[in-house]
Amino acid sequence: MSKSQSANGVRGELAGKAAIVTGSTSGIGLGIARALASAGVNVVLNGFGDAAGIARIRRDLEQSFGISTIYSAADMSMPADIEGMAEAARQTFGKVDILINNAGIQHVEAVETFPPAKWDAIIAINLSAAFHAIRAVAPEMKARKWGRIINIASAHALVASPFKSAYVAAKHGVAGLTKSVALEMAEHGVTVNAICPGYVLTPLVQKQIPETAKARGLTEEQVVRDVLLHAQPTRQFVTTEQIGALTLFLCTAAGASITGAALPIDGGWTAQ
Ligand code: NAD
Repeated sequence: MSKSQSANGVRGELAGKAAIVTGSTSGIGLGIARALASAGVNVVLNGFGDAAGIARIRRDLEQSFGISTIYSAADMSMPADIEGMAEAARQTFGKVDILINNAGIQHVEAVETFPPAKWDAIIAINLSAAFHAIRAVAPEMKARKWGRIINIASAHALVASPFKSAYVAAKHGVAGLTKSVALEMAEHGVTVNAICPGYVLTPLVQKQIPETAKARGLTEEQVVRDVLLHAQPTRQFVTTEQIGALTLFLCTAAGASITGAALPIDGGWTAQ
């Protein structure tokens, strides 16, 4: 099968489905929104950003791929906002077929000085938000006997690094949530998986370079070479396009038997 036939096949298969992608105004979430849109999926965009930038993203996806988008300003630390986002998706698209729990934040600091408010925010946005979004869409996915829930976890769902206590705890929690809900959904045509990326050069990682330099007493150049890329045997950052492509595969029929998995896409990091 040629490349274009295979892309058309995915488009035919998923065209007209509706997805929520949390945290899709930037980085990995935006890459995933783009991959889904390229397959004809209508997308609920979410995340922070200025109105003009968000309007530009919506226009780009709609004009490039002939799909529809809406934007939800839901704050992922607020359960009521998450329920409202799912309701807005149903009002516009009639359903939610695909849920991508991607929004996340990071803070790098030694545990003894780690601000409790940062701990609470990381657990709320990186872990509890996924629970609230899943419970908001699970009934309709079960009723239609089709659904895809993909949680963007991290290599830090599988292994730890120092100075990231809240993030590592939240991401390990996401891996556990994924397994439990996958078992509940297994007979209902709904797959639930975690994607576990290594380092991707997004604003989230750019921000932690100076924080890590401070926590470890290194220069920023040393952090990139000796900490970030040192973790990945390929010595390459993972790209948002690669994560978008893996997400898309999990949404197809070919991905239907993959459920409850924590899939590394980390340049060999967690093979060590
Ligand atoms: P990013 O900072 O580029 O994007 C984060 C997105 O989440 C943005 O759209 C932001 O507006 C949104 N967001 C943050 N707080 C929010 C809130 N309270 N409510 C709604 N939206 C909110 O980061 P990224 O690197 O693209 O990270 C996306 C996900 O991927 C995160 O869960 C992160 O933990 C995970 N991840 C990132 C890497 C990496 O190296 N960048 C590696 C592994 C996992």
